[in-house]
Formats: sequence, structure tokens, C-alpha cells
Amino acid sequence: MNKQLDKLQEWLVKEELDMAFINEPNTIAYLSGYESDPHERILALAVFATEEPFLFTPELEKGDALKSEWPHAVYGYLDNEDPWSLIAHHLKSRKSDLNSIAIEKDFLPVGRFEKLQSYFSAGSFLDITPKIQSMKLIKTPEEIDKMMEAGKWADRAFEIGFNAIKEGISEEEIVAEIEYHLKKEGIKEMSFETMVLTGDNAASPHGTPGKRQVQSNEFVLFDLGVIYNGYTSDATRTIAFGEPSKQAKEIYAIVLEAYHAALSAVKPGITAGELDRLARDVITKAGYGSYFTHRLGHGLGSSVHEFPSIMQDSGFVIQEGMCFSIEPGIYLPGVAGVRIEDCVVVTKDGCKVFTHTPNVYTSI
Ligand code: MN
Ligand code: MN
Repeated sequence: MNKQLDKLQEWLVKEELDMAFINEPNTIAYLSGYESDPHERILALAVFATEEPFLFTPELEKGDALKSEWPHAVYGYLDNEDPWSLIAHHLKSRKSDLNSIAIEKDFLPVGRFEKLQSYFSAGSFLDITPKIQSMKLIKTPEEIDKMMEAGKWADRAFEIGFNAIKEGISEEEIVAEIEYHLKKEGIKEMSFETMVLTGDNAASPHGTPGKRQVQSNEFVLFDLGVIYNGYTSDATRTIAFGEPSKQAKEIYAIVLEAYHAALSAVKPGITAGELDRLARDVITKAGYGSYFTHRLGHGLGSSVHEFPSIMQDSGFVIQEGMCFSIEPGIYLPGVAGVRIEDCVVVTKDGCKVFTHTPNVYTSI
């Protein structure tokens, strides 16, 4: 039995809500164990305070859903059927008087909401997004195991990427090498589009890999992650090809120091704002404060960006079982971009990292 689903049901009872209507595929996977990308079709999970929950899927997915670990009912709909009248029918046959319905206001498109509302015009609709976010905050041991495994695959991706580096190879060719090998080895999906940026291209934190080729004496930045059994990894390494400029190397040393300043302070009770400050202070004191243009980190789990946000001035208190990234960077336009990123799980008295590729200065 899925513990997360139990917790949600308990919450519905406590809050005196009749049901929750979930349509975000990632949250459906989190609560049901059934993973799917339904594209434009409707995939929904109905969870009730007291009645049996059900999954509602396109008919062509119904067989897969029944074979998944989901132990409850699955209803399908054909492309020529009106899914909303069927959803309303199944909901009402579970409970005829549904009055208080929790929906994901951040993820339920207005058109879908209006369809749902048309069948339950007397109902009140409350936002379940904050509850789902807080449920996802503390990971179970099973979730952490999957994230450890996803981390190992990110390490494997770095290994493939580092081996591919040679004079003249383009950023997009290195990306292709990494993803080709991982797919052959069984990884179906990356957490996000693999980023390989060379030289001053890496001075854009969210740059796009292109035709720029690796040149001697510059950095190559890799930011990547995989999805393993529904859980993500996310890590960044910046490695030298040859001998980068003195300033580029100086930036590397500062980012590494900032990374360690934050990483060594992670433990239950510290705030997200303090962690950000520890890393940011190192960079600011070295004179590069205005070139660290993003927060220190973000939560991750079944999605690659979730709570908590490790950012300046946040009083959010870190607790055991939370997972997030530590990723300081310095982006100096025209010179170089350096970021070092690992994701961690908070333990009783510190943290464990998911990725183990060395982050000391490395030149190949
Ligand atoms: Mn990243
Ligand atoms: Mn990240």
C-alpha cells in the first residue's frame, strides 16, 4: 500500500474534504506509483476521504495502469468519448454528494477546471498544492534509495562526457554521446536537457549547448541528471581542458570553497537562508558577488525542482529527510562560467551527497 496515498486520505478526513482531484502526472506517479506522460489526453487520480480511490486514464493506457503497482480501480476513456462526463459519472458513483473538492490550482488548467466545475457547480474547490508540496518535502528511505541510484547514473553520465572531450568536438556532440550511451544502458529519460557548455558559453547559467567546439585551455561545464524509477538526479561539474587562464582558475577555487562552506553546514535546524549566505559570503568576499546570479539550491525528488528553495533571507528550517541541491556558481561574461553542484539528503547530523564524481580542480 502506498504510504503517501494513505497520508493524503488521512489529511482529507482531517480537513473534512470529500475528495482530491489530481491531474499532474508527476504527482499522480508520486501518489499512485503509476508513471505516465499522457500528452494532451487526460490522466487523473481521484482520492476520497472514505471511498476507494481510482485512476482515470486514456483507454490505450489502461492495461499498463492495471499492470502497475496501483492496487485500486482503473477506468479508461476512448478518444471519441467525453472524458469529463465519464469522470463525473465515476466520481458521483463513489459519492453522490461531493461538496468540498481539493484541486491542484498550480497545475489544473482553467479549461479542465471549468469542465469539472460544470458537473459540481455547488461544490467548493480548495487548493491542494501546498499540501502536496509539504508531503514531498521529507523523503522516505525508499525514495532516498532511488535518488542514490539516480545519482550513480549522473556519475556515469559525467564519466561518458569527460571521455568524449577532445579538441574540436562540439557541445551538442558531447550531449549526444552522453545520452546515447545512457539510453543504451537502460536510462529512459534525463531530468532536464543535458547541458554541456564550453568556455565563455558557460557564463550563462541556463545556456543552450550548440555548435561551439571545445578549445584548449578553457573550462567545460556539464549540468545533467537522469530519472531513475521516477526519481531525479541533478549535478554539475566544471572541468578544465588544458590550462585555463589564471582568473578562470581563481573563479574555480572560489566556487569550490563556497560549495564546501554550505555543504559542511547542512544539518537539521539550519535555515535555507543561512546555507545560501555561507556560500554567497565566500563569493562576495572574493569580489564576485554580483556574478553569482541565482539561489544556492532547490529541492528535488520526483521532480527536479521542488521545495525547499535554498535562497537568500529564507527562514525555512531544514529537517532530516529533505533533499536539495547545493550549486554555487560564478558567471563572468566573456571569460568563463563555473558551477559546482551536488544534491544531498539531510541526515540526523549532516548530509549525504547523491553524486560522487570528484569536484576538485581537474584538468584533462
Ligand atoms: Mn543542475
Ligand atoms: Mn540544480
